[in-house]
Amino acid sequence: KTYNFSAGPGVMPEEVITTIKQEFENNERSHMSIVEISHRSKKFQNIIISAEQKLRQLMQIPDDYAVVFLQGGGSMQFEMMPLNFATQHQNIAVLDSGNFSKKAEEAARQIGKNTTILASTKDQHYQKLPTLPSNFDASAFDYLHIVTNSTIEGAAFHQANLPQTSGRLIADMSSNILAEPYNVSDFDAIFAGGQKNLGPAGVTVAIIKKSWLAEQDLTGVGPMMRYQNHIDKQSMYNTSPVFSVYALDLVLSWVIEQGGVAEMHRQNLEKSGKLYAYLDQSDFYTAPVEKTARSLTNIVFTTGNLERDKAIAQQAEAAGLFNLAGHRSVGGFRASLYNAQPAAAVDALIAFLQKVEQNA
Ligand code: PLP
Repeated sequence: KTYNFSAGPGVMPEEVITTIKQEFENNERSHMSIVEISHRSKKFQNIIISAEQKLRQLMQIPDDYAVVFLQGGGSMQFEMMPLNFATQHQNIAVLDSGNFSKKAEEAARQIGKNTTILASTKDQHYQKLPTLPSNFDASAFDYLHIVTNSTIEGAAFHQANLPQTSGRLIADMSSNILAEPYNVSDFDAIFAGGQKNLGPAGVTVAIIKKSWLAEQDLTGVGPMMRYQNHIDKQSMYNTSPVFSVYALDLVLSWVIEQGGVAEMHRQNLEKSGKLYAYLDQSDFYTAPVEKTARSLTNIVFTTGNLERDKAIAQQAEAAGLFNLAGHRSVGGFRASLYNAQPAAAVDALIAFLQKVEQNA
């Protein structure tokens, strides 16, 4: 048995992979599988409608929010969000909790918006969360941008420690959407690339407060970059990423069958809790992220010696444990425990880490 701890694209539910295989096998002769027919076909229309309904059900998305399925990944949202929403003050505020908040800030700046990093925990290697300054004047900004889960550094704003702002709030939930509950109405827009907790790469979900979008003056914004065009055409303004939406719909069904976000959260607390508990009692490994800010999906740790970490991650492959090396920018280890990661993977990982520790 092997386990894959990749941070993204990440492991998909086994049942979903089986269904995908069947889809291709069943349509081998007819050449009418989901990737070979029109996105306007009844078959695909039903899928995209059902995917939206399931996501609405799972996240309890209120009716005054639109849901759209786009391409371009989280990175395109770094531009699309400011283009659509930083229109009045041309100014966005950012809480810098890791590499992806910085990337969003840079992208907004490069398309001509003003940006202000209100607080950053870069100097603490992002092992803590930045806090909103008490003198933050939300009225000077179009919105505040946060990343709910820093995929690389492993710190997360859980629902209980979200920054409290009187202004608009946009969240990048790419690496923990559906892994833990958030109140959608606490945000004015949310986005997430698909390839971690939602399915394969190629589809990006955006959840948009319609009344806020309606206030925007979008002069000069091209048609593909306008959320309204995608909303008006039910995510089919242009050809949909049909395979990714198809697989996303299967993943959403799977999450519902498991018991929804509450059950995923319970399992993720259990899986990550077990791993953190082991790391915390160990004299050999350290999980450096502050306890209240710890990610449930990307568990970052180290032996304190990056060369040794690299060698251990390599050794893990022989034990059937893949993709445990931390991001190239930080080194160490990163075990990604997305929804589809079975609890047995965590047990196998702890057993391996224990053995290494004993032999050290
Ligand atoms: N935001 C977060 C939190 C991510 O983890 C990633 C990718 O890993 C991105 C944004 C960028 O997403 P993409 O590669 O889909 O553009």
